[in-house]
Amino acid sequence: MVNYRLARSVNKWLDIIPPALYPPRCRLCDDPGADGLDLCRGCRADLPWNTPCCPHCALPGDGALPCPCRQSPLPFRAAVVPLRYEGPAERLITAFKFHGRLADGQLLGALLADAVRRDAAPLPAAVVPVPLHARRLRQRGFDQTAELARAVRRRLPPLPLCRALRRRDADARQATRSAR
Ligand SMILES: [Zn+2]
Ligand SMILES: [Zn+2]
Repeated sequence: MVNYRLARSVNKWLDIIPPALYPPRCRLCDDPGADGLDLCRGCRADLPWNTPCCPHCALPGDGALPCPCRQSPLPFRAAVVPLRYEGPAERLITAFKFHGRLADGQLLGALLADAVRRDAAPLPAAVVPVPLHARRLRQRGFDQTAELARAVRRRLPPLPLCRALRRRDADARQATRSAR
């Protein structure tokens, strides 16, 4: 818990320290990062990008068959899912969520922000993190969606952070659930 607190305050310092003072390093291979990310060009090219995918629900598919989401209207305009949960993306997510490597979460949030900027015109009006249940927060020591929201907002034009949601039930862990 103490380490998470320390890492969180380091993350806050990173918001104000000029990037020239902490040159980016690839989180996957430790080479110098590129494009202001802690990710080198080679590892970026090797990430399991979610393309092609449905432009509405982001389910992987090349569009040859109509996506199942076409059968019932979606309750949102579009889902943006830049990466598939496999290979190096799965390693980054696992390290972030279950081993508290907040820098991996910052990288994932930056990649999400870039995908939102590219695919979600017009930009959303606000960032609304889905909070962790209080019990899970005590176990984990940090709220991963709050950390992702910080990274998304750092890389996009100023967007208000809207803490409008409260989680009532501690659901089963996402990692233990089926894709459906
Ligand atoms: Zn690399
Ligand atoms: Zn779809």
